[in-house]
Formats: sequence, structure tokens, C-alpha cells
Amino acid sequence: MNRRTNYRHKDLSNNEVDLPVGKVVCIGRNYMAHIHELNNEVPEQPLYFMKPSDSLVDLSQPVDFPRHLGSCHHELEIAVLINQRLTSADAEQARQAIWGYGLALDLTLRDLQTKLKKKGQPWERAKAFDGSCPISSFVAVSDVQSQPMAFSLSVNGQVRQDGNTANMMLKIDELIADISHLFTLNPGDIVLTGTPEGVAELKGGDGLLLTLDNYFSVETLVSKRDSDD
Ligand code: ZN
Repeated sequence: MNRRTNYRHKDLSNNEVDLPVGKVVCIGRNYMAHIHELNNEVPEQPLYFMKPSDSLVDLSQPVDFPRHLGSCHHELEIAVLINQRLTSADAEQARQAIWGYGLALDLTLRDLQTKLKKKGQPWERAKAFDGSCPISSFVAVSDVQSQPMAFSLSVNGQVRQDGNTANMMLKIDELIADISHLFTLNPGDIVLTGTPEGVAELKGGDGLLLTLDNYFSVETLVSKRDSDD
């Protein structure tokens, strides 16, 4: 693992966005079909967890993860960059605090997470490691014509995840508002909005193509190790 990231938020012209790099707040289950594919229960209230700032790495660099801890799954998610401090906000305040939208992989050490779930233990070992949140550049909210947005992930030319924000149980503004009643969101924080169905294992050498509607596509690959053959 390359542990030093030097990650900065970027816009679609590859210019740095003038916001600090903060925490990442994630929702565990926000698409019904994904809840069913992992045989999870529909939560009575949203299931949140966090990744620290060192989880963030530029998606265009090769994706890496600890190889000695079992399978690592991709979870493709729309990432929201926050540009205002939000505490106990309503949906309208949340909407006004969005700098823009990107795509992220919520990398998940699935074998390890399954063990942690069985024991009722927290998920950070499986989801919060350095580099566990490869993330794209962001399209500014002023350049987004309309919601809902479609997004997809292809691995080695085959579509694995094909999502649409219309299928979210909690919509983006409601989600951000709800989070802000639990944890203050600060300028430069990221909210991951949940993964649609189609999560699967990543292998060394996989080629990935991520697309956010007609705003951008980004290609990357999974770094290959000697032990991958
Ligand atoms: Zn996720």
C-alpha cells in the first residue's frame, strides 16, 4: 500500500477546488436491490459509517487495497462535495451546501466485513483503511442540468453496476440533512450516497470505467501484485 496520498478535491478541468480535505460520511443501505443481494435487512433507520480523510485517493491512479485480508469489493457511489458547515440542516439548506458531484468506490474488504457483522463489531477495519475511497473529480452543481442522474461501473468492458439516483431510498438532499443531525458536516467533507446492486470482487489488473451520466467518464485499473496470478 502506498500510504501517503496528497489527495486534493478537483473540478472537471483538473483544477484544485479551494476546500480542505475532510471526512467521508457514508450510508450503508440506500438502494433496495443492493440490500437484497447481500441478504441484509432493510434498516429501520439509516445506517451510517465514516471513512477518515486518508481514505481519499485520486481515482485515476491505480486502485490498491490490502491483499492479505480476503476479497475486496467495489461499491460504486455518487459522492457529494460539501462546501458549507451544516448542523441540523433541512433539505433546502443541504441542497445549497453542495459544491458538486463525483463518483467514488467505497472499497470494502467483504470477507472481513462479513466476519465483523457476525460478531456485531464496527466495520472500520473493512472499510476505512488508507486508500479505501478512490474518488473522481467533481462536476460543479451549477453545471448539472437535472436530476435524477444515471451512473455506472464497467469492469473489463462488462457493466457491473448501473445505478440511478431515482432509486435512492433517501434522496441526496434528505440524506445530507439527516446526516447533519448526527454529525456536523464541514466544508470539504464528502458524503457517499450508497451503492446500487452489482457489487463484486476486484482483481489485480482489472480495468475500470466509471461514468456519471453525460458529465464525465474516468478510467482506472486495479494495481497488479506478484501474488495476483
Ligand atoms: Zn457503500
